[in-house]
Amino acid sequence: MSTDAPSRAQVPDGFRSADPTGTPLPTFLVVSDDAAVRNGLTADLAHRFAGDYDVTDAPASTAGEALRRSAAEGRVMALVIVDERGTDPPALELCATAHRLHPAAMRVLLIRRGSYSSMHPLVTALALGQVDYHLYCPWAPLERVLYPAVSDFLAAWHASREAPVVPLRIVGPARAARSHDIRDKLSRAAVPYWFYDTGSDEGRQLLAETGRDGSVLPVVAFYTGVVLDDPDDAELVGTLGMKTRPSSATCDVVVIGAGPAGLAAAVYASSEGLETMVLEPEIPGGQAGTSSLIRNYLGFQRGISGEDLARRALEQAWLFGADFVLTQAATAVRAEGATRIVRTSDGTEVAARAVVLASGVTWRRLGVPRLDDLVGRGVFYGAAGAEARALTGKDVVVVGAGNSAGQAAVHLARYARTVTMVVRGTSLGATMSDYLVTVIGATPNIHVLVRTEVVDGVPDNGLTAVTLADRDSGRCRQLPAEALFVLIGAEPRTAWLAGSVALDDRGFVLTGRDLLRGGPAPPEWPLRRSPMLLETSLPGVFAAGDVRHRSIKRVAAAAGEGATAIQLVHEYLADDAEF
Ligand SMILES: Cc1cc2nc3c(=O)[nH]c(=O)nc-3n(C[C@H](O)[C@H](O)[C@H](O)COP(=O)(O)OP(=O)(O)OC[C@H]3O[C@@H](n4cnc5c(N)ncnc54)[C@H](O)[C@@H]3O)c2cc1C
Repeated sequence: MSTDAPSRAQVPDGFRSADPTGTPLPTFLVVSDDAAVRNGLTADLAHRFAGDYDVTDAPASTAGEALRRSAAEGRVMALVIVDERGTDPPALELCATAHRLHPAAMRVLLIRRGSYSSMHPLVTALALGQVDYHLYCPWAPLERVLYPAVSDFLAAWHASREAPVVPLRIVGPARAARSHDIRDKLSRAAVPYWFYDTGSDEGRQLLAETGRDGSVLPVVAFYTGVVLDDPDDAELVGTLGMKTRPSSATCDVVVIGAGPAGLAAAVYASSEGLETMVLEPEIPGGQAGTSSLIRNYLGFQRGISGEDLARRALEQAWLFGADFVLTQAATAVRAEGATRIVRTSDGTEVAARAVVLASGVTWRRLGVPRLDDLVGRGVFYGAAGAEARALTGKDVVVVGAGNSAGQAAVHLARYARTVTMVVRGTSLGATMSDYLVTVIGATPNIHVLVRTEVVDGVPDNGLTAVTLADRDSGRCRQLPAEALFVLIGAEPRTAWLAGSVALDDRGFVLTGRDLLRGGPAPPEWPLRRSPMLLETSLPGVFAAGDVRHRSIKRVAAAAGEGATAIQLVHEYLADDAEF
């Protein structure tokens, strides 16, 4: 669900940053001791990017000085491309200098094509976060190798910067839960915005401009002139052009949830001719949409942000004809003969021939009332993406020891002064992928406290500190923290399904063989045949992804199950005799 920023020409003044005329262009720095490589790459980059970037170069011996000088002059460094063959100083040392002086710049290692050896220094450098990307030498053909790669690097660089043109501006109390909620939703929907605190000059100016007195906040102003006062999700999403009510009372398949499993089901169902409706109460993308970088999704060798993956999948499903209905949760599912009826949160009923449940999981809460009162105002469950930049120079705590906690810590460490990981167990290794444990170990501003729990928080207009308890000695102490990210595991979003389909004792949906539990089908199963692989105890209702008992909890697995579920829907629909 991306509403790209309109062009500068389309928007009124307030929605664009000051005219950049006169401010220096962001810089590329190409570093190589091989003059042919240095001059050739610089010329090829300048040919395409010189209008928007200042393309500069240096041998390794003077590159450090060039980086220092540009930092002292306040110049913005976008890309630093360093030849792996530089030895004085070595390439990775230069990348470290670049990161210290220009933390937002993308560091790219220029490597020679050769064997895909696991011993290549790039493998470790990427895993340790010492470089962001790699580029091949030779880099021709330019249109297939160099330019698409550099455009990707620049897209990632731009994503971490404030957009120069936005479709909407918001004014509200910066630390209010609803302000966070709106920012989080817009970030996950890839909608650029500017947010102003009520007390800021810009905030006051926006209130005056929109004729508001500040008694109802937040106020959201669109560049089209529409102004919303404390909008609910449906108003916000509706104004962005997304559908919030079903437009038809019938379809072939209702897909419940637009995380990776639901999005994959939507792509395959709609591309295979099934009339498909997708219900999603929040923003498409699910948990994956909150991940800043998914590195293990097949085919994305440089990784992909969850937001980007969700945006692509949503657009793909839409282009095949899937109908997305946002801000609507499924609240019930039942059978009426061969028809499956899904009720939505506004009471609408949709009749379908089959249903795919893909409602995923939600984050487990800490259960500390003072912290739960601060959710969205310093305490966050799951997502680190929208808040990370705002936490520049602050002290942050991450609770959890799984991959999502590790990813959040690494992402936050780019901005925060310190990131303290609070872990109940004795180490990270038991629950986190090796590569993340390594990155965390190599990130100097991440500290890991094992055998420790967060037992309380100290609020004062937001969070100021957390109380930590040592699990062995029971001793408590306070740790200053302006933000707490809680990623301690997940619970299935299936409360609404109780009594409709069989669930396991933790609430995950039982499917296929798991319904049989080594014996015959359960008494509620009405058919002679056994349930199919992903079929629930209600024939024609399938489950895919994290919501399913014994699911793999990976993006690829969820997407694979979404696709498989549609194959099973076809088999189910073809087998008329079984209704
Ligand atoms: C921060 C983070 C980082 C991660 N990083 C990785 C990674 O690097 N690699 C990897 O492989 N995996 C990663 N994961 C795990 C991966 O994201 C999940 O396994 C995957 O998203 C599961 O997809 P899903 O579609 O089954 O469920 P979800 O992603 O949970 O999506 C479920 C969707 O259903 C919607 N929904 C819920 N209830 C209803 C209802 N009643 N009606 C309609 N819709 C409903 C939700 O709003 C949500 O959008 C990460 C997870 C997190 C949180």
